[in-house]
Amino acid sequence: MLHRVIPRLGLALALLVCPAVAPPAWAQLCGDTATPTADGRLLGHFPYGDVPGDELVSAPPGFALNTCMVRREMLPDLSRLVAAANGDPALRGQLRALSCHRGIIRQGDVFCRPRADADAATRAISVAPAGHSEHTTGYAIDFAVRPAHGCPDAEGCMAATPMARWLLANAPRYGFEMSFPGGNGQNVKWEPWHWRWVGTAAAAPGAARARFIFAAARARFPAHPAVDGVTILRNVPIWPTVVNAPPFPVCKKKKCK
Ligand SMILES: [Zn+2]
Repeated sequence: MLHRVIPRLGLALALLVCPAVAPPAWAQLCGDTATPTADGRLLGHFPYGDVPGDELVSAPPGFALNTCMVRREMLPDLSRLVAAANGDPALRGQLRALSCHRGIIRQGDVFCRPRADADAATRAISVAPAGHSEHTTGYAIDFAVRPAHGCPDAEGCMAATPMARWLLANAPRYGFEMSFPGGNGQNVKWEPWHWRWVGTAAAAPGAARARFIFAAARARFPAHPAVDGVTILRNVPIWPTVVNAPPFPVCKKKKCK
């Protein structure tokens, strides 16, 4: 157990001591090791920074199964998407949020939670390491369907539900695209529940920033369905792991600034 706890403490300490740089790989990977590829990916996943907390807002009422915070500029399209789904009498109330924004430390917990037989490479097929999840940006949502009709959350059987079929046909009209389609080249498993927001058009409010953050992923491993055609970028820079990270409070004698 200790070997699992120490890397998580290391991740937290690394972020507290030096928030402007990536947590060390051994902390991101629960004690396992891996070398990032030349484009900055770690076990297939691109690096993403944590969204400043003041840019997060609550998801539409009645949508979240638990807490769901999303990037502010995504909320209008998300609200329209949920309203449109609820406007179909056959689907009313079925579209729910399983997971929305996850901070870097929370992502580390998800990635490192006890699993008997999985090394980091195996885990990365279904969960991104800390600092490498689209959920950290506040632009990604894992949708769930209620009632679940016997299909566990975050499983491929969701794709057969009428609600998921509706998402496939309609979500791009609200600026959402499926990040990890079947057969994607990232070695991430097909995730019909995981959608990222990039805006309905490049000029839509907030879309430029989302598209900048996801530029490398969209260019190299296109979503499907995607919102629109993606410009293929050449010489994409490696994004710093923590982008626009909020300053950590400086605390002395239990008083924080
Ligand atoms: Zn997800």
